[in-house]
Amino acid sequence: MTEGPDSAACDVLIIGAGIAGLSAAIYSTRERLCTRVLEKQIPGGQILTTARVENYPGFPEPVGGMELADRLTAQARRFGAEILTQSAVTRLEPRQDEGFIDAWAGQVRHRGRTVILAVGSEYRRLGVPGEKRLTGYGVSYCGTCDAPFYRGKHVVVVGGGNTAIDEGLHLLKFAGRLTYVVLAERFTGAQISIDSLSRQGDRAAAHFSSVVSEVLGEKKVEAVRVRSVKTGLEQVVPCDGVFVFIGLRPQTEFLRGVVDLDGEGFIRTHACTLRTSVAGVWAAGDARAGALKQAATAAGDGVVAALMIKEHLRPRPPA
Ligand SMILES: Cc1cc2nc3c(=O)[nH]c(=O)nc-3n(C[C@H](O)[C@H](O)[C@H](O)COP(=O)(O)OP(=O)(O)OC[C@H]3O[C@@H](n4cnc5c(N)ncnc54)[C@H](O)[C@@H]3O)c2cc1C
Repeated sequence: MTEGPDSAACDVLIIGAGIAGLSAAIYSTRERLCTRVLEKQIPGGQILTTARVENYPGFPEPVGGMELADRLTAQARRFGAEILTQSAVTRLEPRQDEGFIDAWAGQVRHRGRTVILAVGSEYRRLGVPGEKRLTGYGVSYCGTCDAPFYRGKHVVVVGGGNTAIDEGLHLLKFAGRLTYVVLAERFTGAQISIDSLSRQGDRAAAHFSSVVSEVLGEKKVEAVRVRSVKTGLEQVVPCDGVFVFIGLRPQTEFLRGVVDLDGEGFIRTHACTLRTSVAGVWAAGDARAGALKQAATAAGDGVVAALMIKEHLRPRPPA
């Protein structure tokens, strides 16, 4: 490996320019800490994929995900954050003896006195025709975010585990009725949640041993095609929205064996300080084990990590 032109050490190296990384950058730069953000694509992260955010504090009217990302990026740049795009970090190398952590983006070494891992996670997608095109127009991955848009409507929920059931129960505070599409032969979530769902009677129906094979609609979701994996038979189920709860995948593969991850690959941190198992490395946002996976909580995590780093880097008086 060779050192590249961007290898000068900075105080804070932030990996990921989603809401967590950008919020951390706003705080660290305002503390006059030299801050570099490495982003594998463009700044914004997951929120870029949603047309409207209704629950981010400070916006009484819904704000577009792209606008929110642009505002955060501009704010971080205004205080001096260096944001490098198309810089996917593939290796993290703590060099405790030297007091640095190296992050490699291809052949380029970036050196930080501290690191914030803000790499986020991706919702597992169905990977079927219509899904990508109609994301934000009836296809959703977040009940907490989007349930209020479906007041009195018919919603299809894909998945049968704990998240699918709990999010479905939340959806039923707004939606008129739900139809679950579950690959397994039965629900696999906690029995207490399954019991709550059963009490909803006709408002919650289910197709077991089934998958959604296509999302249908011109400008917004109008129906889904449901295929039985037992018989191969297909049917079109009209609906107003599709909520997909088939798991989350943290973007932490390159961290395996370097920082402590939980069984699903989320980064374990100290609950209050957000420190990881590696000295000088913090984690923030959706990639963190136990994160609430909301835009505002990702921002909060970024702020906590940056302020913890400020304290960590504060010069100490000689003993
Ligand atoms: C469709 C959709 C709608 C949503 N709606 C809402 C809503 O209405 N309200 C709400 O509160 N929340 C909503 N959310 C959730 C919210 O977007 C997330 O909780 C939040 O954006 C997480 O921010 P993050 O910074 O932790 O991670 P992310 O947004 O995932 O950002 C991580 C960033 O890190 C980059 N990255 C990853 N790996 C690397 C690497 N190795 N090197 C360099 N860069 C890397 C990624 O490219 C990405 O830009 C929604 C999510 C989706 C998908």
